[in-house]
Amino acid sequence: MTIADFQKLMADLYLEHDTRRGLGGTFMWFMEEVGELSTALRSGTREEIENEFADAFAWLTTLANLAGIDADAAVTRKYGTGCPCCNTSPCSCVQKP
Ligand SMILES: [Zn+2]
Repeated sequence: MTIADFQKLMADLYLEHDTRRGLGGTFMWFMEEVGELSTALRSGTREEIENEFADAFAWLTTLANLAGIDADAAVTRKYGTGCPCCNTSPCSCVQKP
């Protein structure tokens, strides 16, 4: 499944509900999921961490749907040729502490 496929799946599953909730309410749900990901990374099992990554990514993709952003195109445009700063992969930017 590509990012574009996943974004379409999220739209097919939830866009009607998400549209009613709106961008602001959906953003709060996304932030709650990010908090749950943080908790899982600190003390969760591998399965819990995977589930929270899936949820955070799903909500991020939902936000893209509501904002009218093609997430696949956006990440490809920004990162498709390497680091957006130095344009190499791996990044050769000077690491800052
Ligand atoms: Zn770089």
